[in-house]
Amino acid sequence: MALVVMKFGGSSVGTPERMLRVANRIKEKQAEGNSCVVVVSAMGDTTDDLIDLSKQLNSNPPAREMDMLLTTGEQVSVALLSMTLHGLGVDAVSYTGWQAGMLTEPVHGKARIMDIKPERIHASLDAGKVVIVAGFQGMSESGEITTLGRGGSDTTAVALAAAVKADLCEIYTDVDGIYSTDPRIVKVARKLKEISYDEMLELANLGAAVLHPRAVEYAKHYNVNLVVRSSFTYNEGTSVKEDAVMEQGVVVSGIAYDKNVARISLLGVQDVPGQLAQVFGALSNEGVNVDIIVQSGALLNGEANFSFTVALSDLDKAVQVLEKLQEKLHYRGVESEQGLVKISIVGAGMVSNPGVAARMFQIISEQNVSIKMVSTSEIKVSCVIEREPLQDVIRALHTGFGLDSDEQAFVGGPSERR
Ligand code: ASP
Ligand code: MG
Repeated sequence: MALVVMKFGGSSVGTPERMLRVANRIKEKQAEGNSCVVVVSAMGDTTDDLIDLSKQLNSNPPAREMDMLLTTGEQVSVALLSMTLHGLGVDAVSYTGWQAGMLTEPVHGKARIMDIKPERIHASLDAGKVVIVAGFQGMSESGEITTLGRGGSDTTAVALAAAVKADLCEIYTDVDGIYSTDPRIVKVARKLKEISYDEMLELANLGAAVLHPRAVEYAKHYNVNLVVRSSFTYNEGTSVKEDAVMEQGVVVSGIAYDKNVARISLLGVQDVPGQLAQVFGALSNEGVNVDIIVQSGALLNGEANFSFTVALSDLDKAVQVLEKLQEKLHYRGVESEQGLVKISIVGAGMVSNPGVAARMFQIISEQNVSIKMVSTSEIKVSCVIEREPLQDVIRALHTGFGLDSDEQAFVGGPSERR
């Protein structure tokens, strides 16, 4: 008998009909002889709706109360799913995160899981019940309710799978696996049979929204046997594991893009030690993450220019910080640029295949698009380019790296993520 953790996202339980379908799916799983722990997200757009509601009453609500509010979404889901299972003759019990023993940091809105005490879950499983746990929530040591950050139910599921030593953790979502790129842009996107944790982590961090990055980190750390599959079909899904087998000749596994990027340039920065440390220190103090950094142009009169990227949503804040710091560090100017996109190719096979970056640059240039910035890691090359014509560039890269499949990608119900 296997122990399986099944996680269903918001759109998979978005309506009573879908809730019923999910319940039937769980019933089938159990009937096959498995013990099931189920994690669910809030129904449909509930979390967004609750955020909207709160903003109508206070534009800057206290983080503690926000967690109090948002955790109700998942609580509704677990109760309804448990009732539905009972209606189908399946014994089930629902638990909030804290009832299930999810202990987190004392941080609101983005807490990390510190420990899980799964005794209660085990007892219910031993009694033959399906155990349903509310995703995305936990409790701090002092008894405060916390949330794990948007999309955090994936993390709940993977962490639970590690804690109860599940044989398998299945993430049911609205697409039937991990694709080589966004199937809504490239119709012949290829569904991957397998992908390594590291590749998946890069893709998740690059904004491929199918899995929460922290869930992938957890899965890697605890070596959780993870599968991403559709709640709408019985297709096989994608297995995320340590040593994913690469298809012959495939160097690039996936292409991701991120429109939430802006470029900032600092002009005429003095060439004395400590300047950059102060610049990036000030930005990080304000919670602004800096991604790609390049020194542009030669050192001239003891001055250099630097460019770097930040999230577009952080741009205003970043520019404010830098203009203030200019009074102290006396660089000559701060410039910024929007309308950009970061496009990345990811693949474990890159390490041993020279020329991958060169091929990427060539393909992009054939689309008459110039590359503004580049960054690389062992398994990734990212280029910052102008946003148009994004689709053409992605398609060209997809074809150029041999990723096109003969089949049309399946795209399920409405999108699970923002
Ligand atoms: N309901 C939360 C959200 O929408 C958590 C999740 O869906 O994983 O972000
Ligand atoms: Mg959700």
